[in-house]
Amino acid sequence: MTANLLDNIDEILLMGPGPSCVPPEVYAALSKPTLGHLDLYFLKIMDDLKSLLQQVIKTGNNMTIPMSGTGSAGMEACFVNLVEPGDRVLILINGVFGMRMQDVASRLGAKVDVIEFPWGTPVIPETVEKALKKTDYKILAVVHAETSTGVRNPVAEIGALLKGSECLYLVDAVTSLGGIEVNMDDWKVDALYSGTQKCLSCPPGLAPLSCSEKAVDKLNRRQKKVPNWYLDLSMIANYWGKNRVYHHTAPVNMLYGLYQALMLVVEEGLDKVILRHQQNHGKLVAGLQEMGLEMLVDAPFRLPMLNTVKCPAGIDELAVRRRLRSEHRIEIGGGLGPLTGKIWRIGLMGHTARPENVDRFLAALKSSL
Ligand code: PLP
Repeated sequence: MTANLLDNIDEILLMGPGPSCVPPEVYAALSKPTLGHLDLYFLKIMDDLKSLLQQVIKTGNNMTIPMSGTGSAGMEACFVNLVEPGDRVLILINGVFGMRMQDVASRLGAKVDVIEFPWGTPVIPETVEKALKKTDYKILAVVHAETSTGVRNPVAEIGALLKGSECLYLVDAVTSLGGIEVNMDDWKVDALYSGTQKCLSCPPGLAPLSCSEKAVDKLNRRQKKVPNWYLDLSMIANYWGKNRVYHHTAPVNMLYGLYQALMLVVEEGLDKVILRHQQNHGKLVAGLQEMGLEMLVDAPFRLPMLNTVKCPAGIDELAVRRRLRSEHRIEIGGGLGPLTGKIWRIGLMGHTARPENVDRFLAALKSSL
């Protein structure tokens, strides 16, 4: 008989770009008895889950749904439902996930323009404003927390540029939700998606998504069917709405997990959760700087939940990560694209964002350099 590999999974301190550490309450929720996906008690859980999501995203949008699939399913769902062939789409890029948006939108026959900003710096609203004056776009898309670089983009300021315009505003909140302020309605965001495995501290598998009435209106007025059956929001909304029409079997236990993860955020208080991320980020940066290490991003644009640190000259970036994993049971991330080998990405997301983890990490890094 082969050994059961699950018996030997180490408890790793997840301090990379996601997934983050999962609290015991969420593990317990995942192992509750599976109910039928049309069971009346489960439908009640769905209703409460929807309202928890609305609270955390700060929206009154009726179309607020955890999509089956990871954050990328949320991204794909937003574009596939809201883009029609020939639509002019503007994507703001300062890292990997903006580039991914460009790839997704281009596959749908959109006419995609991009504005690129140097990696490690934020999107500049004035540059976007000029582009919006020249062209009537149907969609403007930006990543709030660019996980590949650790930069916070000014989502509220960019949204203000669209005041009075027909253009839909699409925001990636995969890494930001539950870690920094996200205010969908105040910021006039029309389509927003996130993921469970970052600051919500639930394992990967669902993509919270929300669409404004303006976005739903565009969806309802489409000339042709949504070109992806699985992510078609007009059908999925029938399962999450009053009619409860079967579309695909909901991942019942994952939904329990997300429900519990959101309950923990709401019980602690969203403002307190955000403050906890900020405080632990401050503690981490102070410790790193004490060790002589340099941050990639200027202080005003840093993400508290994703800290990018320059790997000093002469140090093997990958070897340090390997030592952290094998000797200290800590996972951190490396750089992507042009930042490969040059930075470390240290996550302080959700349940991971606690002072004892910062202390443990700093001590481990000191002995691994
Ligand atoms: N967008 C951002 C900003 C991300 O950080 C990620 C994942 O790291 C994604 C999208 C894609 O999410 P997933 O890997 O869960 O599909």
